[in-house]
Amino acid sequence: MIDSHTHSEHSADSVMPLNTLIDTAIGKGLDYLAVTDHMDRDFIYCVNNKEVAQLDLPAYAAAMRAAKERYAGKIKLAFGIECGYSADSLPISKKELCQYDYDVIINSVHTVKNEDIYDPVYYEGKTKDQIFLPYIEALSESLDADYPFDIIGHIGYIARKAPFPFVYADYDGLFDAIFKKIIQKGKCMEVNSHVKFAPVDFFPGADLVKRYRELGGELVTFSSDAHQAERVAEKYGLVTGMLKQLGFKYVAGYMRRKPEMYAI
Ligand SMILES: [Zn+2]
Ligand SMILES: [Zn+2]
Repeated sequence: MIDSHTHSEHSADSVMPLNTLIDTAIGKGLDYLAVTDHMDRDFIYCVNNKEVAQLDLPAYAAAMRAAKERYAGKIKLAFGIECGYSADSLPISKKELCQYDYDVIINSVHTVKNEDIYDPVYYEGKTKDQIFLPYIEALSESLDADYPFDIIGHIGYIARKAPFPFVYADYDGLFDAIFKKIIQKGKCMEVNSHVKFAPVDFFPGADLVKRYRELGGELVTFSSDAHQAERVAEKYGLVTGMLKQLGFKYVAGYMRRKPEMYAI
């Protein structure tokens, strides 16, 4: 079992101690764990209208260095980061993504035209196209970001809050263009199981993953996106079962920015 996407106390939206995260992953029998704390330089994260401090990159890097030593031989531990894409923060993201020797970099879209799509306000009074088209455009743009990255984070994340289903058939041509770009650039697509109440179990949904495969996509990975210990590797069997049905045999776990394949 592997988990390519998790968060610790170094993320503004998690309080899980790094050691608890790693101990939990070992306890659950994971062979590989990537810690990928948030680097969102495009918006200010607030809890109860109070600004929460952004990622302290030097502190996070030092903690991961120490953890790698402490857990050597017990689990393959990847020093990762989840970069929130936005056109405005490209220069600072680029600088920081080139500053450290990450094992894995996830590039994710959390905001559309500087609006947080986790916030229900984004959806108010909008049609399906007004919600999805700018998101798909941002996804497409994010693939051209001129900074290093390996994994495309949670395509379809918008499905968690949107009042409409996010399905391949509605935007087939646009999705095809995105998948072709991912394949052509040699990037990996994650399937993210961080869903509690939405009408989907994971995203992108099986219809999208199927099309990615049909177009020649081979690099996929499993991501729980856990922010709490109990959610590490959540729905691993469900997601890999879907992947197997579609003909995938491996999920990729990145070390030193190279994919290593784990049989599913
Ligand atoms: Zn994310
Ligand atoms: Zn995440």
